[in-house]
Amino acid sequence: MTTLPVLEDLPPLAGKRVLVRCDFNAPIRTTADGTRVIEDDFRLVESVPTLSWLVENGATVVVCTHLGRPNGAVDPGLSVAPIEERLRELVPGVEIMENLRFDAGEESNDEAFVDRIVDGFDFYVNDGFAVSHRAHASVVGPPKRLPSVAGRVLAHEVEVLSGLMTEPARPFVAVVGGAKVADKLGIVRSLSSKVDTLIVGGGMAFTFLAAQGHAVGASLLDPSSIDACAALLAGPAHIVLPSDCVALGPDKVTVASFGLEIPDGYAALDIGPESAARFASIIASAKTVLWNGPMGVFEDARFAKGTETVARAIADGPGFSVVGGGDSVSAINHLGLQSQIDYMSTGGGASLEFLENGDLPGLAALRDSPFREALG
Ligand code: ADP
Ligand code: MG
Repeated sequence: MTTLPVLEDLPPLAGKRVLVRCDFNAPIRTTADGTRVIEDDFRLVESVPTLSWLVENGATVVVCTHLGRPNGAVDPGLSVAPIEERLRELVPGVEIMENLRFDAGEESNDEAFVDRIVDGFDFYVNDGFAVSHRAHASVVGPPKRLPSVAGRVLAHEVEVLSGLMTEPARPFVAVVGGAKVADKLGIVRSLSSKVDTLIVGGGMAFTFLAAQGHAVGASLLDPSSIDACAALLAGPAHIVLPSDCVALGPDKVTVASFGLEIPDGYAALDIGPESAARFASIIASAKTVLWNGPMGVFEDARFAKGTETVARAIADGPGFSVVGGGDSVSAINHLGLQSQIDYMSTGGGASLEFLENGDLPGLAALRDSPFREALG
């Protein structure tokens, strides 16, 4: 993969208009009096170096983003107004376009919509790593119309994730969890050939355990993924699964611990203490750790211990640590461990797809831009 063009490759920007695609799809809460308040401005704060650099170099900067799922229709409840307000505090002078997904042309990658959003601009910057796995109009369209480069967020994330896949310090341990086993099988497969140890916890572990013939009770199970899990377990990869769990009873009140056989009606919602300690000790000896997906239903304090133990092991460990996925990142933030993590990926699905395929449509669009030659 050839390298991405970056901000420094842009020609002088004085008097130029630059369109910047960010992913400012921040969680927003509506207060009792109807005010919409940003709950987590991490993605806005993260974009400051890119936006400030452009402003300091004399450009007029207009940001565009999607927010929520308006499905191609104008929805005042999903306007970017709260984002605009916070953005102006962070980088004075920057403008923002209204929610891209108010127009169906964004998600359908409509050419006429691309023409509309690039109208009046001289350059395009993609700084929305987290949407770069989507072939949406604002992600893949502008590089066909304008000289285009990667912003700092995008370039940095690609650098970190590429480094993991090409030259990780070993042992390289990946910890995957969360709820979506079918969605994550591709990444699990791809990681299994690159890591020294692959730890599988969280809800997805039970499809693996079922593939080994264990009784999983009422735990999360994806029957359509059992064969794929069995194939991975039979392969050369070193895959580590939980050996105990904390489960919620059929009365939805009783919480009980079990080993590998979970009784009917019980749903395992966290890994048990033995598993957590075992995972932590593997993590402690890793030189590189990648974590995606919590070890349990950590939103509920009764099932948060496994995730906390793993998160602390990653934070305390000497290895280079990368945490990706919205819920995993929020678990780290909730525990106040963010300063002990080397890289927190905002990418979610995009990070996983990049780790799986080594490329994304938004990156290819920048590399294949017909204006590439015009850049430095
Ligand atoms: P991330 O956002 O970090 O990629 P996911 O979205 O894949 O992670 O998974 C997070 C969700 O998985 C959380 O809402 C959590 O409650 C759920 N989860 C974790 N373990 C279990 C489990 N054992 N059973 C059911 N849900 C689980
Ligand atoms: Mg999630």
